[in-house]
This record gives sequence, C-alpha cells and structure tokens, in this order.
Amino acid sequence: SYRKGGYHAVRIGDPFNRGRYIAQRKLGWGQFSTVWLAYDTQSSNYVALKIQKSATQFAQAALHEIEVLSVIVNGDPSNTKCVVRLIDHFKHSGPNGQHQCMVLEFLGDSLLRLIKHNRYKGLHLNKVREICKCILIGLDYLHRELGLIHTDLKPENILLFSTIDPAKDPVKSGLSPILERPEGNLNGGSTMNIIEKKLKSRAKRAVAKISGGRTSMGGPTQKPERNLDGVDLRCKVVDFGNACWNAKPFAEEIQTRQYRAPEVILRSGYSYSTDMWSFACTAFELATGDMLFAPKGSQSFCEDEDHLALMMELLGKMPRKIATGGARSKDLFDRHGDLKRIRRLKYWPLNRLLIDRYKFSDDEAREFSDFLCPLLEFAPEKRPTAQQCLQHPWINHTVSTNVSMKNKGVAMEKLEKGVSSLHMRVGK
Ligand code: ATP
Ligand code: MG
Ligand code: MG
Repeated sequence: SYRKGGYHAVRIGDPFNRGRYIAQRKLGWGQFSTVWLAYDTQSSNYVALKIQKSATQFAQAALHEIEVLSVIVNGDPSNTKCVVRLIDHFKHSGPNGQHQCMVLEFLGDSLLRLIKHNRYKGLHLNKVREICKCILIGLDYLHRELGLIHTDLKPENILLFSTIDPAKDPVKSGLSPILERPEGNLNGGSTMNIIEKKLKSRAKRAVAKISGGRTSMGGPTQKPERNLDGVDLRCKVVDFGNACWNAKPFAEEIQTRQYRAPEVILRSGYSYSTDMWSFACTAFELATGDMLFAPKGSQSFCEDEDHLALMMELLGKMPRKIATGGARSKDLFDRHGDLKRIRRLKYWPLNRLLIDRYKFSDDEAREFSDFLCPLLEFAPEKRPTAQQCLQHPWINHTVSTNVSMKNKGVAMEKLEKGVSSLHMRVGK
C-alpha cells in the first residue's frame, strides 16, 4: 500500500504543515489512512495526525470526513459532546502523491482493546453505564442537533480518553505515549499500560474484590475479571468516514456486519435508529465480552440469513410486515414472514441469556434487558432515541455495593449449574 495512490511513508521526526506538527509514532491505521501521534509545536500538545491515502477516491472520502468533522466541531464549542474534535486539516505532498491530512485531538485506546484487556469477561455494569452515557451523549448530539447518522458504531470506533490534562500529568492521564508505549506497538496501548500498572500495585486488594466478580462464564477457577476501579472511563465517538446526513444516505450497505441493523440487511431504508441498534450491540458486548450477534454463513444458508435467525432467536419472530417489506425480503423470507432456509429457531430471550449464560443476577438482567430490548425493536421507528435513552432508569441508576455483593453470591451459585450452548444452528 506504500505506493502511488496509497499510504504516505512517515519517519519519526518528519515535519508536517510547514513544520507545525512533528511525527512521533504510529498510533494505528485503517483502510484509508495511517494515524500518527504528532507534537503540535503551536499549541504544545500531542495530536493525532490522520494521513489519508492519496488516490482520488481516498482524497474525496477525506474531504467528506473533514466536512462532517468541521460541522461537529463548530456545533460543540465547549467540547462536551463526546465526539472527536478536528483541530486542523491540510494537504501533504510526498512521493506517493498528495495526501489529505486531518489533525484530531489525541485519544486513547478503543473499547475493543478495553474488552480484550478485560479478557473478554465483560466490564462491571457501572463501567458499562458510564461508557454508554458518553456514547449516548455523542449520538444525541449527532442525531438531534446535527442530523448525522454515524453508520459504523462499534467498540473499535469509540476511543477512551482521560479527563486529566496530559500536559500537566502525562502519566496519570494515561495519554503519555512517549513515556508508556514500547516502540513498535502500532496499535497504541498507553491507557492500558497505566491500568496494568495500577493493577500490579494493588494486586492484593484486587484479588479480594475479584473473587466475587460477576462474569465468570467458565467457573471460579478461570482468570478473574480485571479490576478497573478508579480508572475514569470516558470516551468519544470517532471515525466519521462513513457518516451521512439523514436526508441523503449515500450507501445501501452500511455498518460492520455484527452491528448491522435488520432494516439494513433487508434494504428497507434507514435513519438515526440504525445507530441505536449498533449502540445496543456495543453495550451488550461491553457487559459480556461477547458480540451480541456473530453470524456465519454455511452451505445451506448465507450470513444474512444466519444473522436474521440469530436476531429472531433472541428477540422473537420478526413481524411479517417488516420481514416482507424490504427490497431484499424475497431472497430471505417466504410470504408468511418465515426464513426460507432456516426453519428451526431456538428462542433464548435476552434476560434469560444474561442470567443463564452470563450469570447476571435476576435484577441486573431485568434492568439491563429493559434498557436494551427496546433498542433492538425490529421496527426502527419504535426504537428509543439517544435522548430518550439518556432518561432511562438503567442509565441513571447506580447499583449500591450491598446489592451487588448479594448478587455476586447468587451469581456464584448459578455458576455451578453449568452453561448451555447458544444458537446451535439447524439448517432446513
Ligand atoms: P477505517 O478502515 O476503520 O475506516 P480509517 O483509515 O478511516 O480506518 P480510523 O479508523 O479513523 O482510520 O483510524 C485508524 C486507527 O487510528 C484507529 O483505529 C485508532 O487506533 C487510531 N486513531 C484514530 N483516531 C485517533 C485519535 N484521535 N487518537 C488516537 N488514536 C486514533
Ligand atoms: Mg476505524
Ligand atoms: Mg474510516
């Protein structure tokens, strides 16, 4: 990809935009760009420098992203809306062509890394709540104030950040790549290194707490949930390359597979509520460490069919009108609204799943599924908006220590009963 039309090769110390930014290290990359930590000599801050591939289609995509990011930053002068900020943009010429560059505020690790860091065990529900609140503030801003649909919401596109000013306290802020990140760790990891250190220094206390941890799928002898106590989890929504204005969607197939809403699969048209579906998938993943839907194709059915079957097994049968109402419905459903090639569904409702498989207490499961189920309505217009979600009791509730200790006892008891398997697909 480092050829004409592709990525720009960067060396540490390279200057950008007439010397204003100095490249420090690689933070990550995507299909369109490489992203670098850079030092902004004008503001004396670290920034993220996103350098787009140079071919025309990538340059156009970058211009679209810059337009969207400009609207986002102009509407949020106080920087409180949980969405990444564009600081600057410019063009940079190199041997592979001319590259659109975006200067973004420098953020930390993605939620995907957080989930991995937690060994796919799921975060404590209070942490999930804090993160969900941030995402909802971001979505409410994008949807209601700007008329934007993100279209690619998922853990990878939500980045952590610290409220501690990195310039004042780079270590505590968890945003000190130069101090914390080993060379060659391309995907970042500074926040995690900080968490790791906290963990080691309080190993004893952590063990005491962990021994009563909620999510313990494989039994108490498994690796415990990591302790993230005292880590201020705030986050921001990033990656606006695919965002679109509600009035003029430009792609039919949007969203990353596992976070894709049914109306997108069926080609029934989409709006803001399609982000709310992805949000619910993300919230579940944070709480359990597992993707809510991980469809697979086979010889007798395709990935879309498996995906729809998984949805119905969790949420009940799709109303006939919705199942048969999309441009792709005829490929997938018969006229009664039954899947053509997958006939036997094993129903396992969300709150049972949370209890049986993820060892939630009855109360935790009920509250969390009360929050998630409306977001997973097959009828997009029935899903609550981000603004409505922010009013929901689950978002505004904090489980007291007493209650959660009691629940942990219950969870341990349930654990001994064993775990049944989910979603065994039976073809026609
Ligand atoms: P995609 O193929 O996902 O569309 P892309 O080329 O548009 O990729 P991004 O997803 O915006 O690129 O960024 C690539 C990676 O760079 C991210 O996954 C993340 O690891 C890192 N990154 C992006 N923006 C920032 C930021 N503001 N602060 C820190 N790291 C960032
Ligand atoms: Mg991305
Ligand atoms: Mg992108």
